[in-house]
Amino acid sequence: MKRSFGLPLLYCWLSLSTAALAQGFEYFPGTKYDPAIPTLKAVVGHEWGERITAHHELERYLRALEAAAGQRLKVVKYGETWEGRALYYLVIGSPENLARLDEIKAGMQRLADPRALAPAEAQKLISTLPSIVWLVCSVHGNEISSTDAGLLAAYHLLAAQGDEISTAAARNSLVLIDPLQNPDGRDRFINYFRQTMGRWPDGDLQSAEHNEVWPSGRVNHYLFDMNRDWFAQTQPETRGRARAFLEWFPQVVADLHEMGTESSYYFAPPALPWNPNLTRAQLDWLGRFGRNNARWFDRFRFDYFTRENYDSFYPGYGEGWPMFHGAIGMTYEQASVRGLVARRADETTMRYRDSVHHHFVAALSTVEHTAQHREALLRYFYDYRRTAVEEGAREAVKEYIITPGSDASRAARMAAMLMQSGVEVKRADAAFSNPRARDYFDEQARAREFPAGSYVVSLAQPAKRLAKTLMDKRTDQDKEFIDEQRLRNQRRQPEEFYDVTAWSLPLLFDLPCYMAEQVSAGQLTLLKEPPRAAGSVRGGRAGLAYIIAWGTQAAAAALGDLFRQEVRVHSSDKAFKLGGTSFPPGTLILKTRDNPGDLHDRVTRLAAEHGVEVHATDSAWVEEGVNFGSSNVRYLPRPRVALAYNTPTSANSAGWVRYLIEQRYGYPVTTVRTEQLRGLDLSRYNVLILPDTSAGYTAALGEVNKLREWVQGGGTLVALGGATAWLTEERINLLPTKRERRSKAGGKEEKKEETKEKTEPMPQGRADEPARDASLEKALEPAEEWPSATPGAITRVRIDREHWLGFGYGETATVLVDSNRIFTPLKLDRGTNVALYLPEGKMLVSGLMWDDARRQLPNKAFLMHVPTGRGHVVAFAEDPNYRAFMEGLNLMMLNAVFLGPGH
Ligand SMILES: [Zn+2]
Repeated sequence: MKRSFGLPLLYCWLSLSTAALAQGFEYFPGTKYDPAIPTLKAVVGHEWGERITAHHELERYLRALEAAAGQRLKVVKYGETWEGRALYYLVIGSPENLARLDEIKAGMQRLADPRALAPAEAQKLISTLPSIVWLVCSVHGNEISSTDAGLLAAYHLLAAQGDEISTAAARNSLVLIDPLQNPDGRDRFINYFRQTMGRWPDGDLQSAEHNEVWPSGRVNHYLFDMNRDWFAQTQPETRGRARAFLEWFPQVVADLHEMGTESSYYFAPPALPWNPNLTRAQLDWLGRFGRNNARWFDRFRFDYFTRENYDSFYPGYGEGWPMFHGAIGMTYEQASVRGLVARRADETTMRYRDSVHHHFVAALSTVEHTAQHREALLRYFYDYRRTAVEEGAREAVKEYIITPGSDASRAARMAAMLMQSGVEVKRADAAFSNPRARDYFDEQARAREFPAGSYVVSLAQPAKRLAKTLMDKRTDQDKEFIDEQRLRNQRRQPEEFYDVTAWSLPLLFDLPCYMAEQVSAGQLTLLKEPPRAAGSVRGGRAGLAYIIAWGTQAAAAALGDLFRQEVRVHSSDKAFKLGGTSFPPGTLILKTRDNPGDLHDRVTRLAAEHGVEVHATDSAWVEEGVNFGSSNVRYLPRPRVALAYNTPTSANSAGWVRYLIEQRYGYPVTTVRTEQLRGLDLSRYNVLILPDTSAGYTAALGEVNKLREWVQGGGTLVALGGATAWLTEERINLLPTKRERRSKAGGKEEKKEETKEKTEPMPQGRADEPARDASLEKALEPAEEWPSATPGAITRVRIDREHWLGFGYGETATVLVDSNRIFTPLKLDRGTNVALYLPEGKMLVSGLMWDDARRQLPNKAFLMHVPTGRGHVVAFAEDPNYRAFMEGLNLMMLNAVFLGPGH
């Protein structure tokens, strides 16, 4: 530790008494602490940085701090994790400010909406409100040091006597600290670490204590990366934080992470690409906060880096989402010890307390800068919100109009998602017209009339920049960055995309949307509560059957519920018309004869709970299509779902699908450890889901014949992403097609593509690029390689609507491509390509895809179905449940799981 951080060298900066040194490690040399404020050791038994503080210990310490310093500290519980652990943030400030927290919140709300604020009132708020900084820690539960640093920062701010930073912070600011964003993940990490540690902590990075088992502590209970969840807010932890943020509107947010053990420390300014909706003022502030951190790090002789690796592009990051509300959002990254001590390649030893120390200093530096620039930050924030409204009014596209289309439940969910993010949404009380509205998907097409129940998102609002980056079809990356990545791609060097390049909500939800260049005139009501689709039972008590049209999220949730209640359900493979209403393929039929006498009460509850429309009928005499007794009307056996859940599955993929089926659609899943698969009694299940994997399942399954026999005996095998690639392997042979290598492009074809590309959104190659030598390039080209990987782009696929896997869909659907997997479509005699990527020129909707993939992916398979004996294989080329935000694909996944056993 001394070699790398040289504490004794600090003598020249602050004179330390040897007595002070003898008392142990000093995080802020020379500080005297008020003995009335308890230390961590006094409450839970270990010194700062001596052990990794667990959630229950953190709770004890927060209670002790509050008891000792209640006038200057408030502990707020803002939510609970899936596993029942409480989430907290601390508010630290002067007793005067603590006594008026509601008034401060109300003031921030007013400042955040300049439309209703006279300039003189704004000035008054700016001169009287404290600046607010929000330090958020350990969203990735195995990134451990920031939680202890957050607690230490709280202690320092409350106990340090005569300390300039603490004094300035109390006078000018409120310091909000969320010491632990992911308690479930952290305790998972700590339990593992404590179980595997020996008599002494082991610095050998190969030791068990440094190598977690699946799933790591990074993710929460449902294995989500919550640092990607900020706009989708699928997880309760994220929803609680977003709610808290929108109450306070902090001007400064630092999200404290950890990175690889061999690294140093990272802080702002960020690397390219920067989201174009960030403002110049924000980038300036990022530079200033970075400079202040650098000043402190130089004093302490801590290494750091800036402007590399960590970008500011995706709006779902913990630093990103707050930026679009006007915060100065920053990611801080500390090299992780992943334990208590780590011996590094540079022959230094890093201890846990060093990592805590670095985060602590960065936290104090951030608090200092926020306090010193109270008024400037508040003025900046007010200007940010004011200019956002003005900018929105000047945009060519002034409004986005979302119509319910064929699924009111999905449209309501999208409106709710925007509202949870603090974006204003209006709903049309009556039909209205707008003469200047272009179709989101086909910009040449226009619509004029919009139905009642449509949602309108105006850009003339304080959250304009968030609304814009979430609703725009494309958010472009910096040309300089793309040019660099293009060169790296050509040279086969690793690219530097940090995350996906597309996320537009109308595409994720796959809903009809329009871009209006004129403000809509009509009766529009600003929503105060997230909307819910209203359901009903039409036609009273049914003598014969209840019918639920397939094709909505509400119907899918109702089916999950019905299965769970063991109600007998049939589903029609053909459309029919009954009592004047048309029902599409997939429609559910609940016969009264088959079911308990209280079926009417049950469907009434379903309608209310899930917002589903139920039709009662006394007659099966259809005007068109098939009758209920047709062989095209199938009984749907209850799915008994097993999910492979352990290495080598991608933890995210396994978690997303489990969350989707259990939490969103209310149906149980049995998780089976992958290594158990070979010994498992598979006959207990009729659906087996193999999540995405980079390794394949051969090692876990051993003999694949057992799996094949189970499928042949009637099983529905659902493969996602990498699992689909594994199924095509020669030895496995459960999917009679192949994963394609990169096709060799002739020079001629390449030229044609480059010309064509000028019409497409992505920036071009550098003008000063040296002339390329085609024969040299050919000589250097690898003999065999995969196509270029696509960094999360959104494409369109066309759907085979006659196939049950395509039920509920229109002609096309949107899918996210986040891999280099390309599958040759199945031959007609081998199975069905239920979804194929659209032809070139129509396929890519948003995000970045390199030329070779753009040429090769069109007309290739996205969703394949292979009947095998009495069962079948359902294979998705990409994970359809990505981050659980691909809302438009939910139904496709549920068709596989809910309808699969019946087909
Ligand atoms: Zn992290």
